[in-house]
Amino acid sequence: MFTSLIDKLEKEEILTQEEFSELIKNRTKEDEEYAAKKARSIADSIFANKIYLRGLIEFTNYCKNDCFYCGIRCSNKQADRYRLSLEEIMSCCENGYKLGFRTFVLQGGEDPWFTDALMIDIIKSIRAAYPDCAITLSIGEKSEESYRAYFAAGADRYLLRHETATDAHYRKLHPENLSLENRKNCLHTLKKIGFQTGCGFMVGSPFQTTDDIARDLLFIHELKPQMVGIGPFIPHAQTPFADKVAGTLQDTLFLLSLIRIMEKNVLLPATTALATIDANGREKGILSGANVVMPNLSPLGVRKKYTLYDGKVCTGDEAAECKMCLERRLKSIGYETVVSRGDYSYRDYS
Ligand code: SAM
Repeated sequence: MFTSLIDKLEKEEILTQEEFSELIKNRTKEDEEYAAKKARSIADSIFANKIYLRGLIEFTNYCKNDCFYCGIRCSNKQADRYRLSLEEIMSCCENGYKLGFRTFVLQGGEDPWFTDALMIDIIKSIRAAYPDCAITLSIGEKSEESYRAYFAAGADRYLLRHETATDAHYRKLHPENLSLENRKNCLHTLKKIGFQTGCGFMVGSPFQTTDDIARDLLFIHELKPQMVGIGPFIPHAQTPFADKVAGTLQDTLFLLSLIRIMEKNVLLPATTALATIDANGREKGILSGANVVMPNLSPLGVRKKYTLYDGKVCTGDEAAECKMCLERRLKSIGYETVVSRGDYSYRDYS
C-alpha cells in the first residue's frame, strides 16, 4: 500500500520522480480507491457536485503536422478533410448558447488556411455575440505574436497538451521538425500572456514508461497550468501506430486522481477518449476527480471526419441529445452541469 505517498501529495508536498514511478508502477487496487476517494473529496469541496461544460467545435481537420499517433496527420491521405466557415462556427455557438454552454472550445489541426487574420475575425465575432462566454483555443504551436493577437481579440484560454515531458519519448511520437522544447516554450508563453492554459498527455502512448509519466506529473506541477487534459491513447488504423495497444482505463483514472490531489483547483476534463475505451468512462472519470466535460457542438456532418483515433463515441448525436445523455449520466452519479463559464479559481484550497 502506498497511502502515505498519496497523503504526502495531498499535503502539497511534491513527490520525487522515483516516488511517483514507484506509486504508479506498484499501486494496489486499494491505492486506486484511496486516491479516487481523496481526489473526489477535494473536487467536491471546490466545485460541489457541479460539472463544467465546454462546447467543442472541431472547425478544421486539415493539419500540417505529421504526429505518428494522430488520425488527422498530414500523411493520412484517406482522411476526408473539411473546414467550417465563420457562419458555421457561429451557428455552432448559437446552438450551444441556447443549450446552456458558456465556453466554446475551437479545436483543429494546425491549418495555415486559418491565418491569424481569419482567427482574429472568428474570435472577435464570438466575443461580440457572446460577451458572457469564455473562448478557448486549441490550435497548436504558434508564435508569441500570434498568441498575443488572439488574446487581444478576446480569447481567454488555450489548450496545448505537452504530449510527453521526456525528450527521448517526444522523439518517438513526432517527426523531426517538432520539438518538446518548442512545445514547452509555447506553454510558458501562453501563461505569460495571461491565457488560462492547459497542458496534458496521452496515457499509454506508445513507448511511454512509468518514469515518463512521473516526469509528466512533475512538469505539470512546475508549470502550474489552470487546466490539464489527459486521456488514453487509442490507435488509429491509418497511422504508423495502428498496431499499438491503447492506454487503459485503470491507468487514466489513477492519473486523474493524482493530478487532482496534486493540483487541487485544476480544471480537469473526463475526455471523449476515456468515454471511448469504456462505456461509463466519463462517469468513472468524474468519480476519480475530473470536473469538466466537453460535449461536441460540431455539425453532425463533420463529426466522423474529426477522427484522431478509432471508435470515437458520440459522433452520431445532435448536441442537444449529447447534452441530455450526459446530464442523465451525471445525475446517475449525483452530479449536474452548470450554466457558467467555469473559470479557474485561485481561491486557496483548504
Ligand atoms: N492541433 C492542436 C494541437 O496540436 O494541440 C489540437 C488538436 S490535437 C488533434 C488534440 C489532441 O488530440 C492532441 O494533443 C493529442 O494528445 C490528442 N490525440 C491525437 N491523437 C490521439 C490518439 N490516437 N489517441 C488519443 N488522443 C489523441
